[in-house]
Amino acid sequence: MMPALATLRLLLPAAGISCLLACQNTQAQTVNPLTAAILDMQGTRLASHQAATPQSATQEIKLKQQLILQKDGQFRAISDSLWPGNIRFHFLSTGNKDGMAVVDLLQWRQGVEIERNNAAEARKAYADFLFLVPAFLQQQASNSQSAALPGDSSGKYEQVSFNDVAGRPASMIIERSSGQVQSAKTATSTYEYADYSSIHDLRQPQKITMKNGDKVVLQWTINAQVTEHVDAHSFDLPAGYIEKQDKGTLRATQIAPGTYRVDGSESGYHTGFSVGSHSVAIYDAPINTTEAAKVKALIEQTAPGRKLAYIVLSHTHRDHIGGTPSYAQEGVQILTGKDGKLAVERQLGQPVASKVVEVTEQRELDLGGRSIRIYPMVSSHASDMLVAYDKNSQTLFQGDLFYLPEIGPIPPLFDVGLELDSLIRQQQLQVQQLVGVHGRSGSLQEFQKALELRMAAKSDAGKT
Ligand SMILES: [Zn+2]
Repeated sequence: MMPALATLRLLLPAAGISCLLACQNTQAQTVNPLTAAILDMQGTRLASHQAATPQSATQEIKLKQQLILQKDGQFRAISDSLWPGNIRFHFLSTGNKDGMAVVDLLQWRQGVEIERNNAAEARKAYADFLFLVPAFLQQQASNSQSAALPGDSSGKYEQVSFNDVAGRPASMIIERSSGQVQSAKTATSTYEYADYSSIHDLRQPQKITMKNGDKVVLQWTINAQVTEHVDAHSFDLPAGYIEKQDKGTLRATQIAPGTYRVDGSESGYHTGFSVGSHSVAIYDAPINTTEAAKVKALIEQTAPGRKLAYIVLSHTHRDHIGGTPSYAQEGVQILTGKDGKLAVERQLGQPVASKVVEVTEQRELDLGGRSIRIYPMVSSHASDMLVAYDKNSQTLFQGDLFYLPEIGPIPPLFDVGLELDSLIRQQQLQVQQLVGVHGRSGSLQEFQKALELRMAAKSDAGKT
């Protein structure tokens, strides 16, 4: 396949050249549009509804980000985060005023496909990043109107209302004596700046706290540099990626007789389902009720006259259960692992939680001529993990333990993949297909290949 090399090549020479001509004469008055801040960031995020146990509403996630922010709107961010079960996300986003692109540097979640966003989205992303460099934010704010800060009798501060570079209203509080921004506010977030230091003539906070209302959602510790020149190739996409492929319309794809997965959903998530002579078991209800309602209609069409008897939630992370209310009708059983009811009630309310039955030891679901075995698993990703196995078709349904991308090579297993491997061995499961909520389905051979890659990576790491 063709590598999409350098698709986001710089479109800024016009701005750059005009500065080269003009800047020399006007000196300090003109700001070089290629001036960039380079931030090396370490942080902690409080992620909602992604905790390792159902008892916790939030999970602390360690983050790293390297950000290049050029004054002309060009940017690049490389992010790295570690989630329960040592599942690692490592993404690169790059963009300018005309658009942006995101690739998965580990190629497991998004595979080799490029996620693109239009100019409006790119400008919003850039505008959001500018709140991490308040000195740039001040310079680029438009329509600013300053006023005394209400309630500040000392007169030490002023409040400035402005539009950010994406045209959205925002405000900031500035200390008059230093000219330093103390905090800034957008429609959704508040940024609090502390620990200012000087880098050349730029005053940059080394600590930034992001809040949503009163809730702290993210804390950054930042090491910043300023440069007049960033190598243009820094903004290129790495080689080996392809344009995102069309996934088709919403449909049920048969994996084996009576065994399906849903493809072509808007979110890209896959619901699985097993059909017996009288009942249906459904594996996960991803994202939201709108998507789940469409998936439910598709299941009813594929398995007419059967009762939707069981919704098996692989674990109670929000993205896997958000659609559950669409199925919560009379007589349905919503299955979770131990204490899953707590997390369901917290996220979806009591009426849905009242239908939850926790599975704390192996359980058979009789669908009529088809029996599904449910295995509870105390996974390091989520302690309320459930894995479903259909002996007839030798299909295993799981969420977040094993990933293959939609398009791309087989990635090595994460820790959670080893947990799934133990279950398959201990229970001596004969597996033909592993169906996941994310990515394409895989054969046992593909799973074993991912296991080998994991072992090889481990032993390589051991050598160095
Ligand atoms: Zn999860």
